[in-house]
Amino acid sequence: MRLILLGPPGAGKGTQAQRLVEKYGIPQLSTGDMLRAAVAAQTAVGVKAKAVMDAGELVSDAIVNAIVAERIDQPDCANGFILDGYPRTLAQADAVEAMLAERGEKLDAVVELVVDDKVLVGRIVNRAEQAKAAGQPVRKDDNPEVFEERLREYYKKTAPLIGYYYAHRALKSIDGMADMDTVTAEIEKILAAV
Ligand code: AMP
Repeated sequence: MRLILLGPPGAGKGTQAQRLVEKYGIPQLSTGDMLRAAVAAQTAVGVKAKAVMDAGELVSDAIVNAIVAERIDQPDCANGFILDGYPRTLAQADAVEAMLAERGEKLDAVVELVVDDKVLVGRIVNRAEQAKAAGQPVRKDDNPEVFEERLREYYKKTAPLIGYYYAHRALKSIDGMADMDTVTAEIEKILAAV
């Protein structure tokens, strides 16, 4: 199962991906998590990416494409994976298609979580508060100011992927405003059909 979860920041991609990991036994590949790990480890990629991420902008296609290409060659990805937060640009969408074609693999589904922008800032603020309450580190980009930029980046660079995958007949759009269990059930229904 090779799945892409598409949707703006705060749409619930990460939460849903984690649930699918348990059910399907395939890993969640979150480029955001991978980049945050690189920043924390102060690798060359992390040093380059940090300021861009803190500003809510997108890291270069070359960097993220290389990270994903390396990751999908790991043994745990042999039976598939859930891409969460990648691809985020048309160039990344072309790159993932080429990566899969090279490996004789293909995408099974692209699921778009459709959400109302107005609730997203609240969700992000909530996520930051929950992390703080649990004694976990709060993401530097989970605040209303940076969030506005992340949302702008989404509409400028990522939203065009909805048309791209629609044209490829791979897109399935579901209501991301429904409660978490309903969203999971909807995704599972789509996956059962592929
Ligand atoms: P996320 O955890 O998915 O919200 O990602 C956090 C930040 O990491 C984003 O705001 C970007 O700066 C960067 N990032 C994550 N995934 C990508 C990607 N596919 N392309 C470019 N930048 C990304």
